[in-house]
Amino acid sequence: AAVLARIDELVRLVPDYPQPGVLFRDITPLLADGEAFAAVIDQLAASVGGPVDLVAGMEARGFLLAAPLAVALGAGVIPVRKAGKLPGPTVVEHYQLEYGEASVEVHPFTVPEGSRVLVVDDVLATGGTAAATVRLIESCGAHVVGLSFLVELDGLAGRQQLGEHPIDVLVHVP
Ligand code: IMP
Repeated sequence: AAVLARIDELVRLVPDYPQPGVLFRDITPLLADGEAFAAVIDQLAASVGGPVDLVAGMEARGFLLAAPLAVALGAGVIPVRKAGKLPGPTVVEHYQLEYGEASVEVHPFTVPEGSRVLVVDDVLATGGTAAATVRLIESCGAHVVGLSFLVELDGLAGRQQLGEHPIDVLVHVP
């Protein structure tokens, strides 16, 4: 679709958010454009290499992509949540932030052993969140068949944390 050629125009640049010195990529204009949003989901679905049982989306913007992508693929969806949001029992993976620590959780009874999981988020930055999510899915005995992102911040080299898993990205920024 022609709209994919101008998808980067629908990602708004916000200087000094959430902290001074950070150039934040805001995907809300893209989500609000029905034609562009549909084209993005179609494109992400078309790039998937093989069968997928579950799409895992990271809280919170990853949810918005994972749900329509799961429906498009005929797969289920797994919310990968921040600490303390799921009633449990949960499995947890901790990871380092620039200042401090964070964690991601899933309900393991929704991630069967041997299932094929696609991991989805809006932005790949340092890769910490995505790498923790890969470990989380693998700790359930499932297979990560790939990762899909709307935007990759190439300069942060986040993909180096993601091993050999196939990575699909719609918009690269230096
Ligand atoms: P990472 O763990 O450093 O790769 O950061 C990725 C997480 O932070 C993702 O869940 C993103 O949604 C969020 N994130 C980092 N940078 C941005 C940005 O510029 N725009 C939107 N989300 C971002």
